[in-house]
Amino acid sequence: MSAPQRVISFHYTLTDSTGEVIDTSRDSESPFAYLEGMGQIIPGLERAMALLNVGDKRKIEVTAADAYGTFDDQLVVEVPKDKLPTTEDLQEGDQFQANGPQGEVLLFRVIEVVGETVKLDGNHPLAGEDLTFDVEVMGIRNATAEEIAHGHAHGEGGHHHH
Ligand code: ZN
Repeated sequence: MSAPQRVISFHYTLTDSTGEVIDTSRDSESPFAYLEGMGQIIPGLERAMALLNVGDKRKIEVTAADAYGTFDDQLVVEVPKDKLPTTEDLQEGDQFQANGPQGEVLLFRVIEVVGETVKLDGNHPLAGEDLTFDVEVMGIRNATAEEIAHGHAHGEGGHHHH
């Protein structure tokens, strides 16, 4: 029999390789909560978190490959403007959903508009970044049957959709 699935709640501050803060849970009232084994947090972080206990504070370093993936040059593409769903007021930072090389749906960001050509980047904004999570484990409990059925954590820091 495998161990019961757990809900882990934790506070985190995420910094990139230059030490710049990208995101933090410290601004919210409750820590972030996730159901183990569902891919709700990046793989490298989930593996490290699984070994911690309530009250533990750690700096967890996650390489790009174990975070949002390495940067893929093939996902930077130039397309004619008229191939995009809209050509009105096209600006850097605009986003479009389109199929990637394996047919997967990716979010492409406009990184440059040159005349009638648009340069798009389908990489995750944090692709290629080694990340550091400064974490503090706030709670660990067994998941309820309902949480396991839904595939996510409920309650404080989890989903509040019902
Ligand atoms: Zn639910």
